[in-house]
Amino acid sequence: MIPKQHWKIAVHAPIKEPLTYLSELSLKPGQWVHVPLGKRSTLGLVLGPAEIYEKENLKSVSDIDPSLPEMSQPFFKWLTWLSEYYQYPLGLVAELSRPALEKKTSNRVSKRTEVVPQLAQDYAPELTSEQKKCLEEIKSYKGFHTHLVHGVTGSGKTEIYLNLLEKTLKQNQSAIVLVPEIALTPQLIQRFAKRFGDKIAAFHSQMTPREKTNHWWDIVEGRKQIMIGARSALFCPQENLGLIIVDEEHEPSYKQDDKLKYHARDAAVMLGHFHQCQVILGSATPSLESWHNAKLGKYHLHQLKSRVHTSGLPEVEVIDLREEKAKPQDHQLVLPSWLSKSLYDKISKVLDDGFQAALFLNRRGMANVVMCNSCGHSIECPNCDINLTLHSKSHLVCHYCDYHENLKENCSACKIGEMSPVGLGTEKLEQELKKLFPGKTVIRADRDEIQNREDLENFIHDVETGKADLLVGTQMIAKGLDFPKLKLVGLVLADIGFNLPDFRANERNFQLIVQMSGRPGRHLDDSGNPGQVVIQTFNPEHESLKFAIHHDFEGFVESELTYRKALLYPPHGRLISLRIQSPDRMTARDLATTVSQRALNLKSQFSQYESLEILGPAEAPIAKLKNQYRYHLLIKGQGSPALQSFIKKLMGDEKWIPTRSRIIVDIDPLHLI
Ligand code: ADP
Ligand code: ZN
Repeated sequence: MIPKQHWKIAVHAPIKEPLTYLSELSLKPGQWVHVPLGKRSTLGLVLGPAEIYEKENLKSVSDIDPSLPEMSQPFFKWLTWLSEYYQYPLGLVAELSRPALEKKTSNRVSKRTEVVPQLAQDYAPELTSEQKKCLEEIKSYKGFHTHLVHGVTGSGKTEIYLNLLEKTLKQNQSAIVLVPEIALTPQLIQRFAKRFGDKIAAFHSQMTPREKTNHWWDIVEGRKQIMIGARSALFCPQENLGLIIVDEEHEPSYKQDDKLKYHARDAAVMLGHFHQCQVILGSATPSLESWHNAKLGKYHLHQLKSRVHTSGLPEVEVIDLREEKAKPQDHQLVLPSWLSKSLYDKISKVLDDGFQAALFLNRRGMANVVMCNSCGHSIECPNCDINLTLHSKSHLVCHYCDYHENLKENCSACKIGEMSPVGLGTEKLEQELKKLFPGKTVIRADRDEIQNREDLENFIHDVETGKADLLVGTQMIAKGLDFPKLKLVGLVLADIGFNLPDFRANERNFQLIVQMSGRPGRHLDDSGNPGQVVIQTFNPEHESLKFAIHHDFEGFVESELTYRKALLYPPHGRLISLRIQSPDRMTARDLATTVSQRALNLKSQFSQYESLEILGPAEAPIAKLKNQYRYHLLIKGQGSPALQSFIKKLMGDEKWIPTRSRIIVDIDPLHLI
């Protein structure tokens, strides 16, 4: 009999450190086992032999989990890195790499449409000289390198990805293509399926757990070689990974906001590092982080400056709503207050010419505030520090916690006034456009209208077949979609994005406008018309508009980097945020004070923390969310290691945190609300 050995095992439980178990089995790092934990049995990941033998009464490993293959060493090291860097228990990180359901070979045919359709093969076009140059440069590198492909919308970045994928498959290697959830449309999957047919597996939130599990096994067992998906696709373990592509690398949705708060772009670069393979980051508006890394020489920069088809990028026009208001009114035509005469005329012209127009507003519903016309009282969510949004005629909804109630006509505060809607939402735009353009078909795309894959497919079908003339929507229509007949895109109110309490607000606005300008005129047509973009605003001089109008990415970046540098904000410095929350307001406030006191003490105790800056504590911009009172504290520093060890010391054993209160650590936070 082999003597029992000690093993370090990361169990599937919120425990920071691995536990020690006994086993006579010969285990390997990266193997899944069943272990007893308290009164139950749970899964654990074997980390390696344990060196400390002091503990007595150790429990034994029950058995090796036969349902999953052993993890490869690069993948195992990557999970360990995620756990250390994001300070999240390894057992919970590892859990993400397991399929949602048991493996099953079911004969039941799903009623849903195919996730990846089988399409006739489509061949690669002759590449443009810019595309060729970019590919030659990328292919001249071997092993792990990160390439930033900065190319204007329609410059043929996707074609570059397809070419690199082809090479990877020829070398009998597999690949991951990451796409932001919102851009992961059936249109995009089709484009890959046309080139690689049955080699594609997909992974995203619109798939059922069964579909996801099947696609997971297709990759793990090597039946498919290309995994295309949203950020969680990274967690599907691939044996022989040769290429990782992150499209739209600047997208904030790559950052996961709960549990393991990882950034999929950064995690992808690290996965490439452990697998020693190429990583391609692509965008028309790279994040300042990636741009900075390219300038430092950590990433290789490749630029595509012209569009493949049309002569140029669409013209961007800014309409000053203050001037529009001052113009004499045309009494024949009464326009709603959100629509300028200039934009109205442009829409009419595009529709008359048989093309399509899209209007974008980053706000769902009928109105963002319902206010009393006598005392000004507005209706707030009882669980959150947020106004309720009006949907249809009388339905109030909280967009944060999904609380619903019916609108009452009379004000509950003064009992005299009437409640009336103020502000705008996509639903209201749709309603008013229908009246303004009778005989034209208006369709809306937002989270209320489009809740699953079928809804999205129907929407795309209606636009592609010309059933729809006018589209109204939120982010959904500003990103990822690609329609040949779309010639005009309007941003109804740019000001919604200005003045957000976030140092990245300018970057977001700039990206949004450039992405929007990328929608029209992507296709070759006889007119050679690159399309038009119209932006309505009360602040035409705003910094985010200045550069976006001229598609001047580098100008924007240089100006923004100067400002970030002065304040040591990322990418020049690094941030960690601590969110303190409790169901009791006083407890939350006291805990915030305790945390900041601990932080100040640490800083004065250790010289390596001298240069760290502690900002706050302050009430979070949304002071109450889902019945939790919220405070936050930001720690800013130049290098990651000092910040990381600072947080470890600060949090300690966490026993000092009152029950029912929480401190949530977010490394490299993106959303500060
Ligand atoms: P991006 O990803 O940069 O927005 P795409 O790869 O989608 O650009 O290319 C824009 C359009 O041009 C697509 O319709 C694509 O099929 C087409 N295209 C790309 N490269 C070429 C090429 N070399 N020759 C002809 N058409 C191309
Ligand atoms: Zn709410």
